[in-house]
Amino acid sequence: MTDIAKLIENTIRADVRAVGGYHVPDSVGYVKLDAMENPYQLPDDLRTQLGARLADAALNRYPVPSYRTLKDAICAKLGIPAGYDVLLGNGSDELITILATTIARQERDGSKRAVVMAPVPAFVMFSRSAQFAGADFVGVPIKPDFSLDLPAMLAAIDEHKPSLVFLAYPNNPTGNLYDAADMEAIINALGESGVVVVDEAYQPFAKVSFMDRLPQHPNLVVMRTLSKLGLAGIRLGYMTAAAPLLAEFEKVRPPYNVNILTQVAAEFALEHLDVLDRQAELLNVERTRLAAELAGLPGVEVFPSAANFIALRVPDAERACKLLHGEKVLIKNLSKMHTLLANCIRVTVSTPQENDQFLTALKASL
Ligand code: PMP
Repeated sequence: MTDIAKLIENTIRADVRAVGGYHVPDSVGYVKLDAMENPYQLPDDLRTQLGARLADAALNRYPVPSYRTLKDAICAKLGIPAGYDVLLGNGSDELITILATTIARQERDGSKRAVVMAPVPAFVMFSRSAQFAGADFVGVPIKPDFSLDLPAMLAAIDEHKPSLVFLAYPNNPTGNLYDAADMEAIINALGESGVVVVDEAYQPFAKVSFMDRLPQHPNLVVMRTLSKLGLAGIRLGYMTAAAPLLAEFEKVRPPYNVNILTQVAAEFALEHLDVLDRQAELLNVERTRLAAELAGLPGVEVFPSAANFIALRVPDAERACKLLHGEKVLIKNLSKMHTLLANCIRVTVSTPQENDQFLTALKASL
């Protein structure tokens, strides 16, 4: 009999064997405030209409490979500048993987591996995708107020010569927007030597964007997702860049990576973007209220957020998360992510009722 442990040792990369999986806790029966989802479904009448559209989808066929109708809808509705096309992904998670895979090479200048860089703490997929693609990841700590440390970023760029830099705008897990002039300085510093991806996953709430700067920066990629807008379940991300650059990433995209149900659902949702936009506005109003209530609690430090979640520091994050879990409220403990996040937690902004459930449970834990 083949020894499975030996098989794994002989075949699976050591660095893959060494890491744990991307852990997502089981959430059935919980108030789920750990994953930045929109708590609202589409209204009933729209869901009925969507059901009919999905019933008509040709499941026996592969999707139309160009995805032209969906891409055109995205370009028309979501603020893509004229003359720019998009590349679609199975969530922006897949786009991050495509980006890292496209730039990763074992040898660089005959000696070093390609480098992916991001300010940290950052979205965990930036480093994981870089690692799995076979690139080195360099994280440059942000400042204690969560702003970019521009001199440190520029020095790290000079030292490590990254091929790819991720800047989340707003940043996850901190929620803040980096200074746009600092980001511009990073894009300029890289120029021809590196691609900068501005990850605008939370743009529906932040409302600001680097899209209109694309024409000035051939090394800029802007990436977004429908997930936070209310369609996390369909998994659709998209990114745009100058055509010749986008064409290189397109070569690495797996064929038919966006399935036909996702395509139909996304096209339908974009016809009703006003509904999703109104939901985002409601969540922004709740974000303001929740932040103000949290700021009034003893020993709680609230960090400014432009996203649909709030990062805050509590006296004892471990204890707070445990007690909240006992009250069936799921949030994210950020403490172990980075020293800058000691005793920090992250909560998704949800419905007024769920936010109140969180507030009540948090107050009791303090
Ligand atoms: N980028 C950032 C900054 C995120 O926080 C997330 C989700 N947590 C993603 C990308 C991935 O989003 P999705 O794969 O759902 O499009």
